[in-house]
Amino acid sequence: MNILVINCGSSSLKYQLINMESKQALAVGLAERIGIDGALTQKVEGREKYVASPVMKNHDDAMKIVLEALIDKEHGVIKSMDEIGAVGHRVVHGGERYSNSVLIDDDVMKYLNECVKLAPLHNPPNIIGIKACKQFMPNTPMVAVFDTAFHQTMPEKAFLYGIPYELYQKDHIRRYGFHGTSHKYVSKIAAECMHKNIKDLKIITCHLGNGGSVSAIKNGKSVDTSMGFTPLEGIIMGTRSGNLDPAIVTYLIEELGYTAEEVNELLNKKSGILGLSGISSDFRDIRAAAAEGNHQAQLSLDVYYYSIKKYIGAYFAIMGGLDCLVFTAGIGENAYETREGICEGLECLGIKIDLVKDKVRGVLAEVSADDSKVKIFAIPTNEELMIAEETLEILSK
Ligand code: AMP
Repeated sequence: MNILVINCGSSSLKYQLINMESKQALAVGLAERIGIDGALTQKVEGREKYVASPVMKNHDDAMKIVLEALIDKEHGVIKSMDEIGAVGHRVVHGGERYSNSVLIDDDVMKYLNECVKLAPLHNPPNIIGIKACKQFMPNTPMVAVFDTAFHQTMPEKAFLYGIPYELYQKDHIRRYGFHGTSHKYVSKIAAECMHKNIKDLKIITCHLGNGGSVSAIKNGKSVDTSMGFTPLEGIIMGTRSGNLDPAIVTYLIEELGYTAEEVNELLNKKSGILGLSGISSDFRDIRAAAAEGNHQAQLSLDVYYYSIKKYIGAYFAIMGGLDCLVFTAGIGENAYETREGICEGLECLGIKIDLVKDKVRGVLAEVSADDSKVKIFAIPTNEELMIAEETLEILSK
């Protein structure tokens, strides 16, 4: 069966058509600049990249163009839409109702709309994407796969904040956690690499991309994660501040005259590695600047490593030990310097990286020293494949 995986943003639609027998992507594409003008890129293994500029007034247009590209005689990979057995949609927020992926029906759509207030930037385009897809494929089963679902196993003591309980009960303010699909995928692969049942393992997964989060996974279940009510909490990120004293927010507003909107912009878009370095949010730029002796660039790397080390120590403590540490996403998979910077000094926890084995980028590799008590892996994440696998699993139920 082929499964179409859709990840819909406010002005873009990423997609992959995955063959579930081979687990290979037949086509990988991106429709972008939706509502502006429109641009489509589609990659198929062994062929030249297909690039087009069709007009995309809205997501319905984009969806139509994506489906046409998939069945196109010259550039496509299937003969008709009948060859798409199901669609898996990435949905950012599934609230407290969904601890698993779910077959989309009217009731699910209603609940996704209720979750919009929890993820005002992300859930609306996800919903628009589902509606657009349903228009063209009304009889094809569709599954929602949530970024938050994997973390729904966190106990109350991990997801509650120290604020009045009514704010949780009535207003649902709590830690939700994100990147769940990625944390679940790489922890599963790590257990396979160790030839162990995930139910017997204590794993820390570090998803380090432009956004980043660290998760504690005990016996196959997420027991804590660094992102919170929104993806702003936790480690410092490319442009997001991560943790800070909440009083800084009121200080910025009351003493420095920021509006709430400006604070939001500052903490989400102008902080983190970009804000600290004053150079870029991209790790490659920061590394290069640090190598040339730029103090702020080196400082931002030091703060980054430090913020992740603290989570590793904390999660070691709450799980009562650690069997495996995983690095994934753009930085975690590629920047071995970062893996080494984070692991440096963690020998006291049994974490010892092998500086020779670690010199790899973008491949699955065990990078721990032979005498490391904790296995360390770099594992390329594959959220699309995980979404497709979850979709297939839901259909088979
Ligand atoms: P993501 O959000 O997962 O796409 O990750 C984006 C981040 O990964 C950016 O900060 C990039 O600088 C970083 N990244 C991607 N490739 C490399 C690489 N080869 N070396 C170092 N960092 C990289």
